[in-house]
Amino acid sequence: MSAVLNAPWITRQATDLLAQRGHAWLLQGPSGLGQYELALALASAWLCEKPKTEGACGDCPSCHAIAVRTHADLAVLMPETQMMELGWPLSEKAQAEIDDKKRKPSKEIRVEAMRDAVEFSQRTDARGRGKAVLVFPAERMNTVTANALLKTLEEPPGDVRFVLATEASHLLLPTIRSRCLAHTIKWPEADEALQWLTGQGVDAPVASALLRSAGGRPTDVLRQAGSGLSPQWWSALPKAMQQGDARHLADLSPAQAIDALQKLCHDLVLRSAGATPRFFDEAALPACAASVSVLTDWFKRLIQSARTAEHPFNAGLMLEALTADAKQTLLARG
Ligand SMILES: [Zn+2]
Repeated sequence: MSAVLNAPWITRQATDLLAQRGHAWLLQGPSGLGQYELALALASAWLCEKPKTEGACGDCPSCHAIAVRTHADLAVLMPETQMMELGWPLSEKAQAEIDDKKRKPSKEIRVEAMRDAVEFSQRTDARGRGKAVLVFPAERMNTVTANALLKTLEEPPGDVRFVLATEASHLLLPTIRSRCLAHTIKWPEADEALQWLTGQGVDAPVASALLRSAGGRPTDVLRQAGSGLSPQWWSALPKAMQQGDARHLADLSPAQAIDALQKLCHDLVLRSAGATPRFFDEAALPACAASVSVLTDWFKRLIQSARTAEHPFNAGLMLEALTADAKQTLLARG
């Protein structure tokens, strides 16, 4: 089970939401705060045979079925890439198509999967506790898929509940948003996030530095801690970029490198506005005379690069190009 599922700020919000009525929740807010885990906590509690006020018992046959990803009354709608990452099984048909290399795993929520879910919500439940549909990230539905969901949301067959999680609720159809009760994911207290991270085996000083580099998002920290990137590496990043040292990025994918450079750019803009940097220690940032408009242009180029980063022509070349661009920006005069 994901450790985030039991994080104190997730449990607190689950308790809150479970105390309210509602057959469709829309959890919204930035990624890295556990929105998927909160969605799963709600669905688990709805289906649990001995639910507590703070959520599922974790011990009944229903909870076990969810833990091994085989609950007959839970439909999970995600892009296939995400399902594979989080360990949810694909439909037999989808799995066979991917195994036979007929197509790649989708990055969108497929309309076929949504049709299966609509059919699922019309069936009788198998375990007598109703059914749940979990959609994450909800912004990965295209219009056709979203419309298929909308019909079910408008006329729910009675015993089915929905939980949608998204970090981009503005991209959802307004009609979907209006059918759901919205909940904005709460940030954990900094102390609480730190304590939780050390409880997950991250050394306290490392947790503190990584929490900063992740902009206070603890679940991102856990991922980063597992990737072996050290706080020393993070604080050396800005100066390495100013020196044009592409080797500093060697262990990153282009997408991760772009994310890191966007954080650097973000902090340089904050500093030039007299604000406190968010992701880096002040001391880690190099002296830089680039104007805000030069920095903003750099940010736009990074966004452009992010569009091609998932299928780079050549990852090594892309990292070099990103470094060269960073160096030029950091050394810009005005
Ligand atoms: Zn249970």
